[in-house]
Amino acid sequence: MTIGNHRPSQLVIDQSAIYDNIAAEKARLKSGTELFQVVKANGYGHGITQVARTAERAGASGFCVAILDEALTLRAAGFNEPILVLGITEPKYADLMASHHISATVGSVEWLESAASFLQTGHHLAVHLGLDTGMGRLGFQQPEELSVAVNYLETHPQFDFEGIFTHFATADSADTDYFKIQVARWQAFMAVLPKRPRYVHVSNSATSLWHEVCNGNMIRFGVAAYGLNPSGTELKEPYKLKPAMSLTSQLVFVKQLPKGYSVSYGATYTATEDEWVGTLPIGYADGYERRLQGFHVLVDGQLCEIIGRICMDQLMIRLPQKYAVGTKVTLVGADHGQSITLQDVADYCGTIHYEIACGFTARLPRVYVN
Ligand SMILES: *Cc1c(COP(=O)(O)O)cnc(C)c1O
Repeated sequence: MTIGNHRPSQLVIDQSAIYDNIAAEKARLKSGTELFQVVKANGYGHGITQVARTAERAGASGFCVAILDEALTLRAAGFNEPILVLGITEPKYADLMASHHISATVGSVEWLESAASFLQTGHHLAVHLGLDTGMGRLGFQQPEELSVAVNYLETHPQFDFEGIFTHFATADSADTDYFKIQVARWQAFMAVLPKRPRYVHVSNSATSLWHEVCNGNMIRFGVAAYGLNPSGTELKEPYKLKPAMSLTSQLVFVKQLPKGYSVSYGATYTATEDEWVGTLPIGYADGYERRLQGFHVLVDGQLCEIIGRICMDQLMIRLPQKYAVGTKVTLVGADHGQSITLQDVADYCGTIHYEIACGFTARLPRVYVN
């Protein structure tokens, strides 16, 4: 997608916020527990290589991604740390992974058998066995299956049994019943493991923030590094998370709309009196969702309503007075002591901040500060 470098709408990424969030988490970890930064989906929309660089400086010793291509992006950018692909990669790419020292998530012996047929002699593929303790997404479901896989790995030296992990479905909830069920299943799996691999990991951000006793010797730190509370508003963060992402634009057109005149497709908004209306060069093609009609933005520290339907590339707001073309508008972030958070945007859309952050499209330039 073409990046809008000549348009005043941009995502501003505060690198010091990411740094501080990771450093704060690192400081809470028991010594010997490593932090792998999760940078999937373009670093939750913040920019994969830039986030990885900041995470590295803040003490991350490895990375997790969702798909092989993201891992290859990191390797191409020169990162030499361990990288784990959290999703299932097709076994036919086993040799590609091995040659880039990228670790694979494995959830079945069949996958190992198939991958073995693609591995060139002399190549070694590092694997992390995924255990399904209740997420129901991927991984071995029974301790007996795990034993078969461990035996297979012992007799097939082209694989390096590097890690074992699980993923919790409710670590971000105040209700811990289901979490405890998953912990019990995890322990049943661990009981059949003859010896522990290098990395034993169960924690996403929520688990490490609120169930840190469960942390193995590595955590998969994701959303909290970006300054977002994994629980939304349900649980209080143990330290202040600093949001890294802001979204700003500028008024590109300002006019007085006479009483009785309407705005945007469908003419769903009609001025009830003479009003000042500003146009912003951002729309749903930027990931600023159409459902945000009626939500607000900040101009000069004041909340201004988005009026009429949000278009693909533009939207209109009601201004309290005349403002000059070029006036800064904050769609996410702070302005004169007021703020709009990704959580506010997500609440309005009926979703979670994760989806909003990674939903901003490539047309928005990412500008790095601090
Ligand atoms: C995305 C993901 C994470 C990171 O989750 P956060 O909630 O962003 O911390 C960790 N582990 C797995 C398996 C994931 O898919």
